[in-house]
Order: sequence, then structure tokens, then C-alpha cells
Amino acid sequence: MKCPACFNELTQKQVGSLVVDVCEGGCGGVWFDAFELQRADEEQEAAGEHLLDIRRDPRVQVDFSRKRECPRCAGIKLKRHFFSAKRRVEVDECPNCGGYWLDAGELAQIRLEKSENANAEATAQSTLSPEVIRYLYRLQADGRANER
Ligand SMILES: [Zn+2]
Ligand SMILES: [Zn+2]
Repeated sequence: MKCPACFNELTQKQVGSLVVDVCEGGCGGVWFDAFELQRADEEQEAAGEHLLDIRRDPRVQVDFSRKRECPRCAGIKLKRHFFSAKRRVEVDECPNCGGYWLDAGELAQIRLEKSENANAEATAQSTLSPEVIRYLYRLQADGRANER
């Protein structure tokens, strides 16, 4: 398989039970087949850790404006879109096989974004302590009393 970004030959890399194709010694990008990305995109998933620092050639320049072809499906162009509603990280997805191409550094950004989301959720839950709920309830009750 050829790298869709710099045309270097991709190298198979085993991380845990996952086998992905990385552009080692090229642009440092990673190809995930369908459903592989979701096994490496969260911070507690160790597989992704080994994919954060793919050895790359600093002389390789990637042209982000160029349309890329899926390394698996001949003639199918990858679709560039934002990974999540936060619109921070752009990824390339194949509309045919469902695989993902991530440029160097994009996996790290996705993992960071996911951990931020998890932290925000945890904070939101912890702030609604019983005291807060009682307080809100009292406010509401007071409000009703004042209406009378
Ligand atoms: Zn490459
Ligand atoms: Zn494809």
C-alpha cells in the first residue's frame, strides 16, 4: 500500500491486537481500516500510544490541499472532514471502505480532544452534588413562595 499523502510505501505495524499501516520514514501518517481508529483514539487505549510518534522524514512535505486517494480502494478519493463537532481536527475518510487516514499529529489531537470531553463530563457530574441540587430546589421553592 502506498501512502495517500506522500506516496511512500506504508509499513504494517502491530500495536496490541491492532495492525495498522504507518508511513514510517515518510510523512508519519497512519492508515486505519474501518473500525480500527475507534480502538486507538482514546487516551486510556494503549494501542494508540505507539502511534503518536511515527518516525518521519522531516524533508517530506505534505500538500494538504491535494485530494488524496484511498490506499485500499483504487480510484476512490478520501473525504476530508472534521472528526467531531468541535471542528478542531480534520481527518480523511474513505466513503467506500470506511478507513481513516490521519496525518502526523492528528491522532494525538483526537485523543486530547476525547480526554477533554471526558473531563468536562466528569466535572459536570461532580458539580451537581446533593448540596447543589438542594440549593436549586430551595431557590425554586422560594421563587414560588414569592409569587404568591
Ligand atoms: Zn506518507
Ligand atoms: Zn477505501
